[in-house]
Amino acid sequence: MMSTEPKWLKIIISVMIVIFFNQVVLFIFHLNDLFLHLSYVMVNIVTIILTIVMLFVLRRTTNELRKSNQKLNNIFDSLNVAVWSHDFKSGHVFINQGIEKLYGYNLKDFYKDYDLWKKVIHPDDLNILTERAQQLEQRKPVTSNYRIIRQDGDVRWIQDTGIPTYDDKGNFVNFSGVLFDITDQKEGEERYRGIVELSPDFIAVIRNWKLDFINEAGSKLLGVESQFDLFGKSITEFVSVPDVRKISDALLEIENKGYHINRFELQIIRNDQKKVDLEMSIMRIPYEGKVATLVVGRDITERKKADQIIHHMAYYDTLTGLPNRNMFKEHLNNRLLNSEDEKLAVLFLDLDRFKVINDTKGHSTGDHVLQLVAKRLSAAVLDEGLVSRQGGDEFLLLLNDATNDKIECISQRIINDFSQPLYIEDDEFFVTTSIGISIYPIDGDDQETLIKNADTAMYLAKDRGKNNYQYYNPNLNNLSTRKMKLEVELRKALENDQLTIYYQPQVELSTKKIIAVEALLRWNSPKYGSISPTEFIPIAEETGLIVPIGRWVLQKVSEQHKQWKSAGITSLRVAVNVSVRQMQENCFANDVKQVIKEHDLNPLDLELEITESIMQNIENSTIVLNELKELGVTLSIDDFGKGYSSLSYLKHLPIDTIKIDKSFVDDICDTSNNGSIAKAIIDMGHNLGFTIVAEGIEQEEQAEFLKGNSCEYGQGYFFSKPMPAEKVFLLLEKGLDR
Ligand code: C2E
Ligand code: MG
Ligand code: MG
Repeated sequence: MMSTEPKWLKIIISVMIVIFFNQVVLFIFHLNDLFLHLSYVMVNIVTIILTIVMLFVLRRTTNELRKSNQKLNNIFDSLNVAVWSHDFKSGHVFINQGIEKLYGYNLKDFYKDYDLWKKVIHPDDLNILTERAQQLEQRKPVTSNYRIIRQDGDVRWIQDTGIPTYDDKGNFVNFSGVLFDITDQKEGEERYRGIVELSPDFIAVIRNWKLDFINEAGSKLLGVESQFDLFGKSITEFVSVPDVRKISDALLEIENKGYHINRFELQIIRNDQKKVDLEMSIMRIPYEGKVATLVVGRDITERKKADQIIHHMAYYDTLTGLPNRNMFKEHLNNRLLNSEDEKLAVLFLDLDRFKVINDTKGHSTGDHVLQLVAKRLSAAVLDEGLVSRQGGDEFLLLLNDATNDKIECISQRIINDFSQPLYIEDDEFFVTTSIGISIYPIDGDDQETLIKNADTAMYLAKDRGKNNYQYYNPNLNNLSTRKMKLEVELRKALENDQLTIYYQPQVELSTKKIIAVEALLRWNSPKYGSISPTEFIPIAEETGLIVPIGRWVLQKVSEQHKQWKSAGITSLRVAVNVSVRQMQENCFANDVKQVIKEHDLNPLDLELEITESIMQNIENSTIVLNELKELGVTLSIDDFGKGYSSLSYLKHLPIDTIKIDKSFVDDICDTSNNGSIAKAIIDMGHNLGFTIVAEGIEQEEQAEFLKGNSCEYGQGYFFSKPMPAEKVFLLLEKGLDR
């Protein structure tokens, strides 16, 4: 233990004791000299008083020193600190009580064995002894962390700092040490290191734009084998300049806005140049005594891809790749918000007769057609607007800066482009489109109204013969709802016998003799009045109602023919219009056969008029037409030329007659082509062995031209309008007056 009495005090006390004995001797030998005697007595009294005072001071100092030592020890003990000091000169060793807490051994044990501290070092950490020795050789204080095994067997982490002291001559005179228990800190560090290393996230510490630390997951993400290879590397090797800016902006925000953590997304470029999207969290931390940036990043590449797919699915049409309805609406809304004075046009497109392709050729062909249509539309619009698919065969277009010229030009371009056939493998498809147009701000100022009005205008385009474009006007508002109402009414019409059949004569042009009559449906609805077949037949076709209606027509016409026959009209053919939809019914040929049998009809007297749309499914049509031909009925192609099929195609089918569409007959009086197309069709038709009937003859001039160009037969208002059976009967009896 350290002595607490100061040296000078000891000397004074010794001197005083000597003086005191000296006085006693003097007193004994000079008793007769009173003066001397008294002076000795005085000196002795003073000496005694001084001695008492000195002893008192000595006691107080000793007590204070003891107390302050105790205080120091208490402090060390409360800190869980062990302190030891070895004075090599005196050989004195001091160890504080705290060592017992640290090592679990008695203080005495350390005094007994100065090497005990070495003996309890964990065998795996014994190397620190050599390290310490080397360090001390350089006369430097030494700090080492190592584990010890306490007397109770527990393993604790110790931080041991040794401070060597040298005298003026450089001799090693003292070695003191301070030992702390750092187990909790060490375990905490280990725990954090474990978390950082085992984390699947990218964790790095950046200082001066260099990597001071990166975990294993981080190095893997960067495509680098060992994380240690990355220490000291500049982050610009892995992050693009704009993304470096993102980091610096995030740091600025932390400083300026007082955020603790900031989050953002960035892309890192791996060693193999692949890009990885990361969701980053960033914060300032002290690292190895300096301010650094801790970045934690999570790989969100897959999530981003999934997001993109979901976004694509939500905003794009999977079949055509075009933007879908949602995207269109969003885009239109944005344009409306930022339009200022910009005029916008919404074009609603519906493919004409697409349903026929789908029904006859199957859905995969239908899908293919839609894909080709999408390409065609995109090519027609280019960057002048947005093309989207609404679903089915409907497309929506948005034209920016829509001047009248631009709207006209693009609409016409689309109509023209669609006049070219589409090819799928060896098949040729003619798909036309009807376009309805609404304009912002005249026809509406919100997305919903503009689309609805363009849709309405599209119905007008359908109504006006399809394959054209129409502008919206407020009078059209009831059009589409009308379609739905008509559908309901048409069902009732069939049940309630509201349908009737008119007949229009077909005439031999050279003799003006009626050789046939065409049956044409009429519907007089109690609710809506007389409705044109051009309006209700497409509805019947779309809904499939045409099948029972067609069966009813065939039945009625055959009955009528039978009646006329029994009334003396022996040589008359009846022509019945047949929709493709009817021909798809498996039993169609059989139905015809039944009707013929039932009414004892000469099959040659029954003519079936089929439109060119049968060409869309040539295999099935060929089978059905051959079955019909076998029954002996006459087959004709109605409205020839309207549907763009070529005559040479028809020669493979068992067709007897071609009915030239009214539009070519109209051309006869048109000075620009003087009926040249009609003439060409007649010639080619004859070459291929078809009988030719011209439709829609309204003027004598047309009849004459056709007759002069070897067209055998004709039909039209010039000869007779369609009329009820009774009236036609009169004509049949007495003949035409022309
Ligand atoms: P379509 O078979 O081509 O019939 C000829 C159409 O032209 C008839 O119209 C007829 O009234 C009209 N027409 C005849 N001559 C002239 C003329 O000189 N000038 C003008 N401007 N028009 C003339 P309608 O009766 O309105 O029938 C329209 C279409 O409805 C028919 O065209 C046909 O495709 C269809 N249709 C009529 N009845 C039936 C039916 O029972 N079944 C089927 N599937 N379709 C039918
Ligand atoms: Mg017809
Ligand atoms: Mg026709």
